[in-house]
Amino acid sequence: MEQAIIRVAQAIEQAERILLITGAGLSADSGLPTYRGLGGLYNGHTDEGLPIEAALSGSMLQRDPALCWKYLAELGKACLSAQPNAGHRAIVELQRRKPECWLLTQNIDGYHRAAGSPAERLIEIHGELAPLYCQSCGAVDPQLAEHLSRPLPPKCRQCGGVLRPPVVLFEEMLPERAIGTLYAELRKGFAVVISIGTSASFPYIVEPVLRTRQAGGFTAEINPTRTDLSAAVDVHLQSRALDVLPELLRHIQ
Ligand code: NAD
Ligand code: ZN
Repeated sequence: MEQAIIRVAQAIEQAERILLITGAGLSADSGLPTYRGLGGLYNGHTDEGLPIEAALSGSMLQRDPALCWKYLAELGKACLSAQPNAGHRAIVELQRRKPECWLLTQNIDGYHRAAGSPAERLIEIHGELAPLYCQSCGAVDPQLAEHLSRPLPPKCRQCGGVLRPPVVLFEEMLPERAIGTLYAELRKGFAVVISIGTSASFPYIVEPVLRTRQAGGFTAEINPTRTDLSAAVDVHLQSRALDVLPELLRHIQ
């Protein structure tokens, strides 16, 4: 393990353009649930017998907002009661030492910004949980915590419409600006790409890793379990992000 960490650290030291891709596994060390893989809430199905992809879909929010919100609220409550961990903070420090280190996250918990990662190098590809807005009139409602303690789904104070968070639900389009930034940066190329705590279930998460590998760059994965990416990366560090990231930093100037 130590040898493998040193190999990744050396690749980072020699690189300028670096992309870190993070998923629910990074925030799992803060106590937040993941959906798949180690500690995955829904490796099977939800209480309703649905795959999580169906419960948290754009069409479910329209058809049965209370059911969709049941799962949004679960993640929302966990986010509000926890905080960024030493893994998030190690990434902030790495970005300070490496001014061309970008961060692509699927997490909607806002923990990268809360920990201090610079907004101009952060791509939140699945949006974020707050602030809620009304699907009918567009009014913005900043009271996420308050709504989560009341019957679901949360309703607009102005018109009674169903509120939703600015997240990308399953089946929904990715935010144009985020995807534009991601592909613009990908065209410039990255010397190192590291996938951290994600089951890599989406093509726009897998693609930066494969493209970088094909272009001769260095790729690594940090995940206690194997994923579809494990066989494709140069190094798979098979442990928790919280254990690896601070240790990795100790080997980087
Ligand atoms: P995922 O649940 O599909 O996969 C999580 C991965 O993290 C798994 O491969 C698991 O083995 C790994 N993992 C578990 N504990 C870990 C640890 N301590 N260190 C490193 N890795 C660990 O998550 P995903 O790939 O991010 O996709 C989930 C989707 O659900 C995303 O779209 C995301 O928006 C959403 N989601 C977000 C959060 C959050 O914001 N924190 C939490 C759950 C789900
Ligand atoms: Zn409204």
